[in-house]
Amino acid sequence: MLGLMQDRPLSLPHIFHRAEQYFGHKQLITGTPAGDTTTTTVADWAVRVRRLAGALEGLGLSADARVGTFCWNTARHLELYLAVPCTGRVLHTLNLRLFPDQLVHVVTHAGDEAVFVERSLLGVFWPHVDRMPDVRHVVVIDDGAGPDIPDDPRIRDYEELLAAAEPHTGRFTVDDENTAAAMCYTSGTTGNPKGVVYSHRSTVLHSLSTLFADGVGLRESDVVLPVVPMFHANAWGLPYGCLLAGTSMVLPGPDMTPRGILSRLAEHRVTVTAGVPTIWMGMLPLLGEYDLSAIRSVLCGGSAVPKSMAEGFRKALGVPVLQGWGMTETSPVATLGVVRSVHEDLSDDAKADVRALQGPAVPLVELRITDPDTGEDQPWDGVATGEVQAAGPWIARGYHGGDGDGERFTADGWLRTGDVGVVDAHGYVKIVDRTKDLVKSGGEWISSVDLENEIMAHPKVAEAAVIAVPHEKWVERPLACVVVADGEQLTAEELITFLTGRVASWWLPDAVEFIDEVPKTSVGKFSKKTLRERFDAYALPT
Ligand code: ADP
Repeated sequence: MLGLMQDRPLSLPHIFHRAEQYFGHKQLITGTPAGDTTTTTVADWAVRVRRLAGALEGLGLSADARVGTFCWNTARHLELYLAVPCTGRVLHTLNLRLFPDQLVHVVTHAGDEAVFVERSLLGVFWPHVDRMPDVRHVVVIDDGAGPDIPDDPRIRDYEELLAAAEPHTGRFTVDDENTAAAMCYTSGTTGNPKGVVYSHRSTVLHSLSTLFADGVGLRESDVVLPVVPMFHANAWGLPYGCLLAGTSMVLPGPDMTPRGILSRLAEHRVTVTAGVPTIWMGMLPLLGEYDLSAIRSVLCGGSAVPKSMAEGFRKALGVPVLQGWGMTETSPVATLGVVRSVHEDLSDDAKADVRALQGPAVPLVELRITDPDTGEDQPWDGVATGEVQAAGPWIARGYHGGDGDGERFTADGWLRTGDVGVVDAHGYVKIVDRTKDLVKSGGEWISSVDLENEIMAHPKVAEAAVIAVPHEKWVERPLACVVVADGEQLTAEELITFLTGRVASWWLPDAVEFIDEVPKTSVGKFSKKTLRERFDAYALPT
């Protein structure tokens, strides 16, 4: 017997029409390259989305064309976020910090027919366009900065296009909820970028999850500032979640400096913000200088959240950092490190330890940890480690073009995340490491993540990354690459003394290298690949 409920597609037109109908008065505030802001309302934005939808028809794109965006976090980018998928086309957010060859690769691999580029970024994009044979239109969004616009038949002006367009009237429809809505390539921390393709259904369900109270819990009264780029896993799904919930948004544009972000958080009384740990680490010493009293949630993920950093925020703002774990392939939110009633009686310090875990899976996501050699599920006992595997309606089941599918998906359809974890009896995941980042010393694993956290707890350390270097006897041993905080001095001996007793003695790094900066990936994570290359033939003291 079948249920008798309406089979309505879970598709992005619902999010657009809801925002247009209910939240027209809400504000979208965008930072410009000149350092000031432009403010628009959701009602004006919706009018422009309708014009843009008409303009897309006028460009002669295929019905399911991939449409690239090369943009900052801006209200214009948000127009593309809805207009492209609501007309059945696929939004392809391009990472602004890819190397030219990778950029050409992902545009070509996706088959982008048009790319919308903010003028302040044209100098980065345009020199490579001749190597992108499918790109027929480069639409320039003039944000008031950047090079002269080239005289080329492929170039179009965004505002002229919108002004000339016949706006879409009535409701948008996407009948098949499994139609592709957006795509994003992985940032390639551990290999070549692979194309993840989100569907309307996966995006709507993931957006709903950002409204769950035991999580990010977006609500209509919020003012949300995503620092996480809109080119990275749809800014963790926040723009769609915000439109669904009816929040106002502050989109910072090009200024991602700690002071730039902090002044916007204060000025616009932001309540919810989100970014990778390196962003918050840069702000930590400055928190006392700004009025951040409106903030109720600081979402942090993309890399392990150091306990010392999360505690620094809690002490300064009175709100804890909420850790999320996931990846491009998981839309991206898969777990959230929330403190639950089972932890109520714990001390503040023990609660901070709970928040340092990646947390339980969010509703609708399923996780397991599996022995990579035997394929057997491991118990949730807080001890057994295994590869974390994920399944659920917003978890990828394959990559665009089938690249790497054999390695990354199990025979029963689960995603192999490449992360190694432990799960406790309450279902809290602790990511110990990435498979490729573990230090294997004498047959035992050392978690580089744990070691980094302890090193970063030293008050004179600004940043630290631990990598494995070859060792004659133990096969691999940890090398600590440490950035000393501004104006401080630190010796290797001081650091080792500090770590003694905080980690097992055989975890103590064999050497400490003081470096100016930990190299970062295109999305601001520590790039251990670069560090490993740099310290390739490292000679450990004997
Ligand atoms: P890439 O895989 O190219 O680095 P992603 O942004 O998809 O790009 O990265 C996902 C990876 O980031 C995860 O597999 C995991 O290793 C790491 N990660 C994300 N969030 C966390 C977290 N809260 N704690 C530890 N690692 C995390």
